[in-house]
Order: sequence, then structure tokens, then C-alpha cells
Amino acid sequence: MAGGNAIRGTRVGAGPMGEAERGESAPRRRVAFWCSQGHETRVAFASEAEAPETWDCPRCGLPAGQDHAAPPPAPRSEPYKTHLAYVRERRSDADGDALLEEALSKLRARRGA
Ligand SMILES: [Zn+2]
Repeated sequence: MAGGNAIRGTRVGAGPMGEAERGESAPRRRVAFWCSQGHETRVAFASEAEAPETWDCPRCGLPAGQDHAAPPPAPRSEPYKTHLAYVRERRSDADGDALLEEALSKLRARRGA
């Protein structure tokens, strides 16, 4: 049966036990992230490492998520915001709390990365 060897050949390195990969580079998996502008970024992680929920898009800097259909929204706080605009926002307590929550969750996400 010549076909048997051909089929077996395609399975080298793809065995369920992963033993064939030993001695090569550490097993990696690629995780795709999409930003709200539709840029796709593929990042390789060690297979035992946990991929972060979001990844900064290297093209536009916006946060990118793993859900293509629902990328994370662009952050409302611009890095180049003027001081006056910043002060105006802080006058609204509700907005201030929301911004604080947003900033805190980003900090936590980055620390976890
Ligand atoms: Zn982008």
C-alpha cells in the first residue's frame, strides 16, 4: 500500500501527543487581533502562555481584540488632548468616573500582558 506512507507523512509534527515537535522550537500558537479600523495583527504566543484580551495595533495604535466582529472601541481620551479639554471633562462627575474606570481597566489589562 503506497498510500499508507503518504498519509502518515502528512502527520509528522502534528501528532496529538506533540512528541514529534520535541527538539524544535517551543510550540507556539498564533492569535489574531483586529482593531476598530480593520487591521489584522497576528501575534505568536508560547502555547502555554495566555493571550491578552487586547493588543495594541502596530499600524494605528488602537486597541485590537480577538473578536473580528466586535473590535474594542477606540479610546475616547486622546493622548494629545489639550489641558482645557481635560479640565472640561473633569467637571462632569459621571464622565470622570467612566474615564477613571476605563483607565483602570486598561492599566489592569496591560499589567496582565
Ligand atoms: Zn489598526
